[in-house]
Amino acid sequence: MTNSLKLADWQQRATALRFPTGHFIDGDHVPGGTARFTVINPATGTPLCEVAAGGAAEIDRAVASARRSFSSGVWRRMAPRDRLAILSRLAQLIAANGERLALLDSLSMGKPIRDMLNIDVPSATQCFSYFAELSDKIDGAVTATAADAFHYILREPLGVVGCIVPWNYPLLMAAWKVAPALAAGNSVVLKPAEQSPLSALLLAQLFVEAGGPPGVFNVVNGLGNAAGAALALHNDVAKIAFTGSTVIGKQMLVYAGQSNMKRVSLECGGKSPQIFLADLEDLDRAVSYAINGIFGNMGEVCNAGSRLLIDKRIAGEFVARFIEQGRNAYRAGDPLDPQTNLGPLVTAKQRARVLDYIGKGRSEGARLEFGGDAPALPGCYVNPTLFSGVNNRMTIAREEIFGPVAAAIEVDGLEEAVAIANDSIYGLAAAVWTRDLRKAHAAVRDLEAGVIWVNCFDHGDMTQPFGVYKQSGQGRDKCLESLLGYTQTKSAWIHLGPAANPP
Ligand code: NAD
Repeated sequence: MTNSLKLADWQQRATALRFPTGHFIDGDHVPGGTARFTVINPATGTPLCEVAAGGAAEIDRAVASARRSFSSGVWRRMAPRDRLAILSRLAQLIAANGERLALLDSLSMGKPIRDMLNIDVPSATQCFSYFAELSDKIDGAVTATAADAFHYILREPLGVVGCIVPWNYPLLMAAWKVAPALAAGNSVVLKPAEQSPLSALLLAQLFVEAGGPPGVFNVVNGLGNAAGAALALHNDVAKIAFTGSTVIGKQMLVYAGQSNMKRVSLECGGKSPQIFLADLEDLDRAVSYAINGIFGNMGEVCNAGSRLLIDKRIAGEFVARFIEQGRNAYRAGDPLDPQTNLGPLVTAKQRARVLDYIGKGRSEGARLEFGGDAPALPGCYVNPTLFSGVNNRMTIAREEIFGPVAAAIEVDGLEEAVAIANDSIYGLAAAVWTRDLRKAHAAVRDLEAGVIWVNCFDHGDMTQPFGVYKQSGQGRDKCLESLLGYTQTKSAWIHLGPAANPP
């Protein structure tokens, strides 16, 4: 990736950047009608562009295009090796267009360009490579039957898959849904978040440049309650793969019931605990993971380690080192400056929401150790914030803030830590730091979360099922299981014995 570029280089590239702002349907860009919404650059608070606000008509058109491509068999019946080759080429094109993709997301939602280059773009590339490789490894089965029958199980794609994604990792969240859906032979309609609608259009264009047939991968832009609702309510959509808030995730289940009982997979909110036991090996390392686990990506991470459950025997020292290392670890700045590791929050509304939570932390009696305010910059910034003396009944320990706000809670040993960790409607991820193997395994067993880290945080690769317990949703991203979630089985029972009497 082009990490040697300086701020002035990126600014110059941003000024020269030209990009479509409509939809992508049937293999081509479609400008959209007069209904538009404004995308604001959160680093400056100024309009970036006007994007087509699609609704039911555009969704109908995209779903019809996806359905035509599915029924024709142009993709699902293509030799799996050929699908593999196209998706592999797409992965290469994502890497080759990394600079443009990085700019589109950074300008619209404020992510530091260095994170786009070091995390989002390479991870999206890996995601398409991984699922490309699985395209020709989707097996059915032959089961053991009596001699008068031959029974085989086919694994088939579902049909048209609707993907609805959020703004915090626009390219990557789209990749996590679209790549396995395509690898399994489905056709796709993607509805990006209205705050970050641009990289999805380039992604769909790259699919066609890689040799993907028109109509297999469509994008409709628009607001959630218009384009998103129309997609989730569509009777010709076989599955909705959703990542976003728990409130809207629940709505997806309602839409499915109100329409065609489509399948729904949900990756929603979190309030992930990191447990730091007194016997942990390296306090500085643990503290640095605690800092990065909540301040990285401005805290706008579903699995952000927002609750720090620290054994009371080390809590004083832990918090002291967190203050020392964490206070200045993240510096707000222009996201296009490769030195910047703290961009703005996504919108002024999100900034107000996070500052409101900080106010609740103060008024409910938590101790503000640092931050709690906004830097003197024009955009939607909030300074990294640490509260200590938090208890698990406080609002800042219960609700997903989705900002750079850490809540330190003292606990007395593993048992109490696990009880507090599990006292949440969410069950996304959790971590435990200890030198004791028995405690580590007990924590893995007892924590109610889909991902558990031991002596690390946010580690993993594409083989790792990324998914959730409780009201963090259902379903898994990444991994083979995710791919199978875009398939269904068909049983074929063939009678081989003498002509049977009808039952
Ligand atoms: P959101 O739920 O408001 O929006 C997500 C998507 O849903 C957007 O595309 C939006 O347009 C659409 N949408 C909104 N209202 C809709 C409606 N009524 N009908 C249909 N579609 C609708 O979430 P957000 O604020 O964009 O994203 C932040 C949330 O995403 C956080 O809660 C975060 O935890 C979650 N998230 C979860 C994961 C995960 O893997 N579990 C990953 C990233 C983000």
